[in-house]
Amino acid sequence: MAPQIVVQVVVDRPLAQGFDYLWNSERLGTPPEIGQLVEAPFGRSSLIGVVIKVGTHSDFEIEKLKSINRVAPLPPLDPAALGLINFASQYYIHALGETIIPTIPQMWKKPDNWEKIPAKLITAEEKKKKKVQLEQSEGFIQEADLNLEQNQALEKLRHCSSRKNEFKTMLLQGQTGSGKTAVFLNWLSAVLDDASAQVLLLVPEINLTPQLERRVRAYFPEKKMVVLHSGVTEKERGIAWYEAMTGKAQIILGTRLAALTPLPNLRAIVVDEEHDPSYKQQDGIRYSARDLAIWRAHDVKVPILLSSATPSLETWLAAQAGRYEHIRLDQRAQGASLPKVHLINTRDPQNQYSPGDISKPKGKSSITKTLAKAISKNLEDKKQSLILINRRGYAPVLSCSACTWLSKCQQCSSYMVMHKAGALTKKPVLSCHHCGLAKSIPSHCPDCGNADLKTLGRGTQKIEDAIEEMWPGARVLRVDTDSSRSSKGAEDLFQEIHQGKVDIVVGTQMIAKGHDYQNIGLVAVLDADARLFSQDFKAAERLFAQLVQVAGRAGRSGKDGQDGGDIYIETQYPESAVFQYLLAHDVDGFLSHIASERREAGLPPFSYQALVHAEAKSLDKAIQFLSTLKAQIKSQGFIFQGLRVYDPVPKAVMRVAGTERAQLLIESDSRKQLQEVLEAVDRGLRENSQGRISKTARVRWLIERDPITI
Ligand code: ADP
Ligand code: ZN
Ligand code: ZN
Repeated sequence: MAPQIVVQVVVDRPLAQGFDYLWNSERLGTPPEIGQLVEAPFGRSSLIGVVIKVGTHSDFEIEKLKSINRVAPLPPLDPAALGLINFASQYYIHALGETIIPTIPQMWKKPDNWEKIPAKLITAEEKKKKKVQLEQSEGFIQEADLNLEQNQALEKLRHCSSRKNEFKTMLLQGQTGSGKTAVFLNWLSAVLDDASAQVLLLVPEINLTPQLERRVRAYFPEKKMVVLHSGVTEKERGIAWYEAMTGKAQIILGTRLAALTPLPNLRAIVVDEEHDPSYKQQDGIRYSARDLAIWRAHDVKVPILLSSATPSLETWLAAQAGRYEHIRLDQRAQGASLPKVHLINTRDPQNQYSPGDISKPKGKSSITKTLAKAISKNLEDKKQSLILINRRGYAPVLSCSACTWLSKCQQCSSYMVMHKAGALTKKPVLSCHHCGLAKSIPSHCPDCGNADLKTLGRGTQKIEDAIEEMWPGARVLRVDTDSSRSSKGAEDLFQEIHQGKVDIVVGTQMIAKGHDYQNIGLVAVLDADARLFSQDFKAAERLFAQLVQVAGRAGRSGKDGQDGGDIYIETQYPESAVFQYLLAHDVDGFLSHIASERREAGLPPFSYQALVHAEAKSLDKAIQFLSTLKAQIKSQGFIFQGLRVYDPVPKAVMRVAGTERAQLLIESDSRKQLQEVLEAVDRGLRENSQGRISKTARVRWLIERDPITI
C-alpha cells in the first residue's frame, strides 16, 4: 500500500505552526502543490488554508489526522509570492497563516463558490472588454512628448535597468508637476515590450487611482491592466487578483494591499509618492508596502523605481549614499514656475482685521485679513482657490462658557467633534472620531445647565460656512471624507474641481495629493502649527511633504505665462525650519537638516524601532504587562550594547471605546539585533497567550516593526 500523503496547512490564526492533514487521493486526485488553497476541517467547522508542505510524515499520529475537504480551482501561489509572504511574516513578527490568508481576496475564500467561479470569470472578462472599448472611444488626452530633462531622466533609468535579472533601486526625485509620471510610464513601456512581462504600480491612496488608471489605460491601450484597492467590489478584486496571479494581467495598479499579490512574471515595480504614510498598514500585520516592494524587487531581481517630490528621509539618504540611483527632474513640465510661498504670521496685527475695519467682509471671518484679500484677488482673476484644513467636522470641541465642561467622549480619552447637519446626519451631532459614538448636541451644559455652549477651534465645515458668508457669490465645495461619503463620492467632487464648477474648495488632506488640477491660483493652509510640536519625530517630515504636495496643486498648467500660483500658510511660527525650507523650495536642504537632527538624536533611520502595543480593561494592567516584559527582556540577557528598551507609556489617545492602551518602545542600532530581540519577545509572549491575549493578565498585545507614529 502506498504511504499516506500528509499535507501541512496554515490558517488565519496567530499560531506559529501549521496543521497536518491527510490527503484523500481517491476523492481529491493527485497530491496538491505547495501554495495551493484548500478548505480543511478546523475545530467543529472548517477554515481556508494554504498548503506549505507535502510529504508522508507527521509528528502526530497519522490515524488521528483529519482529511482536507476540498481544493480551490486555482493554480498554487508561486514560490516567489510565498517567499515574499514568508519574509513579511518573519520580519513583521506575524504568523505565516495570518500573513498569507488576508492577502487572498474574499471571493476565493468561500469554498461554496469554488465550483461556480470559472463561469463567473468569463462573464466578467467580457463585460470588462466592453467597458474598456467604450472608454477608449470617448477619446483620451494624449501624453505629451518628453522634454529634454525628462528624456535625460528616462535615459538614466533605462541605463540603470538595462541588464536583465538585475535588482536596482532608483529614486526619481522631482518637484510636483515635473513630469515624473510621464517619465515612469515611458520607462515601463520598454519593460512591457516583452508581451508576458508584468509590472506593479503602487499608489498610496485609493483616491489617486482613477486618475492614474485613466492615464495608464490610455498609455497602454493594448495591455491588460487590473486595479486592486479596497474600493473595488469583492468580485472585481477576486477577478483582478486571479488575473494577476495567473499572469494574464500585465499591469497591476493598486494601493498597499496590491503589494503582496502573486505576480509570476514580475519585471518592474514603481512606487509612486514613495514617502506617503499610507503605504504603512496600520492594523493586523503592520507592514510597509514600499519596504516589501523593495525586498520583493531584490528577491526576484528586477528594478524598482521610487518616485516622489519629497522623498522620505530613509530613501533620500540611501540615494545620497549611492545605494539607490538618484535621478532628478528639476523643472515643471509645462513650464510653470514654482508657487510662491507666503507665510502669514497670525500674531502680527497687520495680518488681522481690527475691530472697526471697514474692509472686513460680512460674517465671522476666521481667516486672516491677508489671506482674505488674496482670495478676493484670486476670485477676480477667475482662478480657483484651495483651502486646506486638516480636520473634518465643524469644530473639534464643544465647550460650556460658564463652567469647565467639554465634549469629552465617554468611551475614549478624546473629544467629540461637532458636526453640522448634513446629508449624512439629519441633525447636528457630536461624534467621536476614535470610537464612532454619536450623540445629539446638548441644548444645555450637562454639568451646570448653562445654555450658552461654544465651539472651540475649527474644522472644514466651519471654514466652509465662513467662506460662504465672506464671498456670497462664490461657488464653494467642501471635500472631506464626510462630503465624499454622503454625496457622490470623492471622484465626482474632484471632477467638479477639474471642470471649473467651483471657485473655492475647502478640504482636508484628501485634496492635497496628486491631483493634476489645471486652474488653481491659490492654495491656503490653515492650522498647520499643531503638527510642528508633535511628540512624533516624523511629524515635521510629514508636514513638509504635505505642504509641498499641496503647494504643488497651484499653478500647474502654466498656461498664463509663467505663473506658478501662490501658497499662503497661516502660522504663529513662520521662523520654524519646515516653513523656511518651504519658502526656499529647498527639499534637499530640509532633508539634510532633519537628517542631522535624527542622527544626533539616534532616531530612525539611524536606528531601528519596534513597538509592543498592549490593550486592557485598565491602563494599569497594560502598563504592568509591558513593565514585566521590559524586565524579562533585560533578564534574558538581551542587554546588548546599542539596545534601548524604554519605559512603557500610555498611548497619545489612551482610551478608545473603553479599552485602555499603552506601548513599549524598543530601539536598536542594529536591525539584526532588533530582529533577534523581537523574535524572543514574541516566543515568550506566545507561550503565555491564547492567540494574542495573555492568559494571566488578559492583555491583548501586538508587535509592530518600524512604526511611523510613536
Ligand atoms: P508629476 O508626476 O511629476 O507630478 P506629471 O507627469 O503628472 O508630473 O506631469 C504634470 C503635468 O505636466 C501633467 O498634466 C502632464 O500631462 C504634463 N506634462 C508632463 N510632461 C510634459 C511634457 N513633456 N510637455 C508638456 N506637458 C507635460
Ligand atoms: Zn457648564
Ligand atoms: Zn470615543
